[in-house]
Amino acid sequence: MSGKIFPLLIPLFSFLIFSCTTKKPVTEGTTFVIVSHSQEVELGRESAQKILGKEKLVTDPRYTRIVKETFRKLVEALPPKHRDGYKWNVYVLDRKEVNAFALPSGDIFLFQGLLDFISNDEGMLATVLSHEIAHVILRHSAEKITMATLARVGELLLLNKIPPENRGLAREFYELGVNIAFLMPYSRQQEKEADAVGLLLLFRAGYNPQKAVYLWRKFTEGFAKGEPPEWFSTHPSSERRLRYISRLVRFLEENPQYISEFRLPAKVMEKL
Ligand SMILES: [Zn+2]
Repeated sequence: MSGKIFPLLIPLFSFLIFSCTTKKPVTEGTTFVIVSHSQEVELGRESAQKILGKEKLVTDPRYTRIVKETFRKLVEALPPKHRDGYKWNVYVLDRKEVNAFALPSGDIFLFQGLLDFISNDEGMLATVLSHEIAHVILRHSAEKITMATLARVGELLLLNKIPPENRGLAREFYELGVNIAFLMPYSRQQEKEADAVGLLLLFRAGYNPQKAVYLWRKFTEGFAKGEPPEWFSTHPSSERRLRYISRLVRFLEENPQYISEFRLPAKVMEKL
C-alpha cells in the first residue's frame, strides 16, 4: 500500500465502522451495515418486481396452497418487532431447480423443483422457509451489501482511482455493491445463524424440529449420490452441519426459554 493512499483509508473505514455499527437482531452480537432498514426493504422490493416481471409463477393450488399456508404460520409466529416493517410474500417459480432464496424485503422465492424434491412435505417446507425468513430478519443482505461496497471502495482506493474529493462516486460504489451482494452466497457464519434462528422459528410455529434434521440429511445424501441439489451451491451441507443442527435441536428442547424469548446469543451458539 502506498503511503499516499493509506491516510485516506483510515478515516473512511473508521467513519463507516463507527457510524454504522448496530446490534444484531436475535443473536445480540454487533455488526455494521451501511444500508438502513427502509433502504433494504426498498431494494428487495425493486428486485422482486424485476423477478416477477420476467419469471413464470406456479399457480396450481396443489403447490401454492401449502406454501402460502406454511409461510403464513411462520410469519405469524415471529415476534412483532421482527415481523413488522417487512413486505412478507412468498412465490413459487416455475423452475425445475431445487432452489429457494430470500430478498431483504421479505419476498421469498421457492422453485417448483424444491417442492418436488421434498414431495410437498409441510415440515421440510417449513424448514426451508424458516431458514430463508431468518436470513431476512438477521439482515444478512444488508451485511453482504456492506461488505461488497467496502471491498469495491477499498479496491479502487488501492488502485488510486478515486480522487478523494469526488463524492459523486459513492453512489456508484453502492450500486455496484448491491448488484454484487445479491449474487454473493451467504457466509458460513451467516448460514450458521440462519440455521439457528430458523430452528427457533420452527419451534415457535409448532413444527417438528426433527424435520429439519431429516431435510439436511436428505440434502447431504443427494450430494453424496453425485446429484447435488441447486440449493447446495449456496447451502453446502455436510455431516458437520447436520451434527450442528442436531445439537441445536437438542439444546432448544432443553432450554425452551430461548424459544419464547426468540433470542439465541452468539456466545451460546458458539458453544454448540
Ligand atoms: Zn441460507
